[in-house]
Amino acid sequence: MPSTRLTYRRRQPYNTVSNKVRIIRTPGGEHRYLNVKKKGSAPKCGDCGMKLSGIPALRPREYAQISRPKKTVSRSYGGSRCANCTKDRIVRAFLIEEQKIVKKVMREAEKKAKR
Ligand SMILES: [Zn+2]
Repeated sequence: MPSTRLTYRRRQPYNTVSNKVRIIRTPGGEHRYLNVKKKGSAPKCGDCGMKLSGIPALRPREYAQISRPKKTVSRSYGGSRCANCTKDRIVRAFLIEEQKIVKKVMREAEKKAKR
């Protein structure tokens, strides 16, 4: 039985995150290390930290190579905040604006009552 021990095929001799390998069998029947690329991490929502759906998990260089529609969702805050957080933001902004209008109306009513 041949030895099952393998050696790295590149200059980097340490078992680091960037030097991960997989054992493959070549067409010639020998076992050999195949260097595997680092896994990309999915972009997360800036508010709740959930993974953003609709956007692939890629390495930075790969994001530079794909087109814009593949990196974003066509919605306000798309590609930055998840749908739930976007909804919360819109509702909050609406309520704040409503409150302002209510205050304004109350102030005007008070003015009229004083006269
Ligand atoms: Zn969120």
